Amino acid sequence: MCRFVLGTGVNAAREVEAVVIGAGQAGLSAAYHLRRTGFEPDRDFVVLDHSPGPGGAWQFRWPSLTFGKVHGMHALPGMELTDADPARPSSEVVREYFDRYERAFGLRVRRPVDVRAVREGSGGRLLVETPDGTWAARALINATGTWDRPFWPRYPGQESFRGRQLHTAQYTGPEEFAGRRVVVVGGGASGTQHLLELAPYAATTTWVTRRPPVFREGPFDEGAGRAAVALVEERVRQGLPPRSVVSVTGLPLNDAIRQGLADGVLDRQPMFDRVVPDGVEWRDGRKVAADVILWATGFRAALDHLAPLGLREPGGGIRLEGTRAVADPRVHLLGYGPSASTIGANRAGRAAVRDIRRLLAGEPLAA
Ligand SMILES: Cc1cc2nc3c(=O)[nH]c(=O)nc-3n(C[C@H](O)[C@H](O)[C@H](O)COP(=O)(O)OP(=O)(O)OC[C@H]3O[C@@H](n4cnc5c(N)ncnc54)[C@H](O)[C@@H]3O)c2cc1C
Repeated sequence: MCRFVLGTGVNAAREVEAVVIGAGQAGLSAAYHLRRTGFEPDRDFVVLDHSPGPGGAWQFRWPSLTFGKVHGMHALPGMELTDADPARPSSEVVREYFDRYERAFGLRVRRPVDVRAVREGSGGRLLVETPDGTWAARALINATGTWDRPFWPRYPGQESFRGRQLHTAQYTGPEEFAGRRVVVVGGGASGTQHLLELAPYAATTTWVTRRPPVFREGPFDEGAGRAAVALVEERVRQGLPPRSVVSVTGLPLNDAIRQGLADGVLDRQPMFDRVVPDGVEWRDGRKVAADVILWATGFRAALDHLAPLGLREPGGGIRLEGTRAVADPRVHLLGYGPSASTIGANRAGRAAVRDIRRLLAGEPLAA
C-alpha cells in the first residue's frame, strides 16, 4: 500500500510515484503502461476519477449516439473491442468495455473521487487534493478530458430568449423536440448528428455555423491524420489553446451526411447576429422563429484544478513538449490538443509513462 507521509491522521497525504487523474481512454492507457512497466496500483500509482462508473465521457453520451455512428473508436492498448453491436448506444458499449479492461489489468480505479486542486508540496512532490484525501506524487498524469467543460459562446440577446437553450452535453435524443422549431449552432460532428436525428421529429431545423463547414471526401488515411495532428501540435507548442483534432480533420462525407445535404437538412446558414425572445436574427433583418437553440459548440479542456501550478502561458494554453508540460516536467497532459482522440490518447499514455520513468530514474528527459 502507499505510505502516509505528510501531515498526520486524517490529513495525511498518501505518497505514491504517480497519480493519474481521469479514467477515460487517456487515463486508462497511461494506467495500462504504468502497470506493464512494473508500477503497482495503490502502492506506486493511483487512478482517480470523479464519474460514477467506467467509460470516461462516453458514459454520458446520448443514447441515440449508437456505436455505429461514432467516427471510429480505437481500442485501448492490450485488449481489442470485438463484436460490438453497432445498433447499441456507444455509452453502453464503451462502459462495458472499459469495465472489463479495468478488471482485466487490475487498474483499481478509485471513483467517485473528485480532484479539486493540484499544488506544490514539499520534497518536490505534487499534492493532489480531493475530498477523499490527498496524494503526494512525484509525477502527475492529467487525463481529465473536456466533457465537464461545455463551451457556450455569448451572443447578444441570449438571455432574452423565451424558448429552451441547451448544449450538446445535455442532449439526450430527438424525441423531446417533436413539433419544435430548433436552431442548431455548430459545424462539428455533434452538430450534424443532432440535425440528422432531429429532422424527422422537429417542426423545422435551422443549421448555423461561424465558418462554412468543410466536408472531407474519401477515406481519412494516416498521412492526412498526421497532418491534422501536426497542426494542433504546433499550437500547443506555442502555448496557444488547442483546437480539437476533429476541427482540423473536417467532416467525413458519409452516406448519412450526403443524404442530409441532398434533403436540405444540412443547409448551412451563416451565424446569426443576435438572439431575440422568439428566435434568432441576422443583421440584414432576416429572422428565424425558434423554440429551441441547441448549442453544439464544443468543449474546452477541464483543467481548473491545475490552476495553482500556474502552467498557463500568456496565450491561454499550456505549452507541451510531447505530453510533458514545459513549465513543470512532472506534469503530463493527455487527451489535450494533439492527443484529443482515442488513438491520440492511446499513444500519449505510452509516451507519458516512458517519460515519467526517466524522470523518476533521474535520467535526462527527451527533448
Ligand atoms: C460527442 C463526442 C463524440 C466523440 N466521438 C469520437 C470518436 O468517434 N472517435 C474518437 O477518436 N474520438 C471521439 N471523440 C473524442 C473522444 O471522446 C476523446 O478523444 C476520448 O475519448 C477522450 O478521452 P479522454 O480520456 O481524454 O477523456 P474522457 O473520456 O472525457 O475522460 C476524462 C475522465 O476524467 C474524469 N475527470 C475529469 N475531471 C476530473 C477531476 N477534476 N477529478 C477526477 N476525475 C476527473 C472524468 O470523470 C472522465 O471519466 C468524441 C468526443 C465527443 C464529445
